[in-house]
Amino acid sequence: MTELPAPPPDTAFPSDQAADSVKLLREAVARYGRVIYSASLGVEAVVLIDLICANGLPIDIFTVDTGRLPESTLELLERLSRRYQRAIRVMYPDAQALQNYVADHGINGFYSSLELRQRCCHIRKVEPFRRAVAGYGAWVTGVRHEQSEARATNRAIDMDSRYGIYKVSPLLPWTIQEIWAYVRTYQLPYNPLHDFGYPSIGCEPCTRAVEPGQDERAGRWWWESAASRECGLQPRTPPSTLSDL
Ligand code: SF4
Repeated sequence: MTELPAPPPDTAFPSDQAADSVKLLREAVARYGRVIYSASLGVEAVVLIDLICANGLPIDIFTVDTGRLPESTLELLERLSRRYQRAIRVMYPDAQALQNYVADHGINGFYSSLELRQRCCHIRKVEPFRRAVAGYGAWVTGVRHEQSEARATNRAIDMDSRYGIYKVSPLLPWTIQEIWAYVRTYQLPYNPLHDFGYPSIGCEPCTRAVEPGQDERAGRWWWESAASRECGLQPRTPPSTLSDL
């Protein structure tokens, strides 16, 4: 049986890193007013939700239930809502659009081509996301530099021209060791799939465990090339218009 990578071992928790992330979030609220966090419910989301809630930041939180999430992800959503006594808004795909897609391409049509996979992601993720962030000045994401080549050049704050609002990435410099150190320090709940070789967790049929040494996102849409492995919420190439704080 192949040995799967467990979450990284304990390391010292970088409190300066957390303070910098909170400072960036506060600056985003001061600068852009209404700010909303799109929680993926991966381990980074657990850290970001804690930073927002523990520091009383006036940032709304939502997640998208695509209809194909693992049960453990939905259980984590419930645990986080209970822990923080705070509503995490749940967005759903448009029922008619989804019904038409399944009628035309089948329940697992996303395996057939890149175009059908991206269309499924658009219906199940991007369109509900777009509805959720409408009217906000900025959205927050938990991406980190080391996750992929596409994310290595991301900036802490950028104008996201696809949605016409700013994108704020407070965890960009965090390493995966630092993320897990934070989770362990504060004994935060997390998706147990992380203990079974899933560093990145998305929809159940499009996520699998990775081998030791593989890219963190290698288990997402593993049948595609690395360059296309984003759902549409994050750009697949570095943004050309940059604007830092
Ligand atoms: S990850 Fe897979 S199931 Fe989920 S929205 Fe994208 S293509 Fe559809």
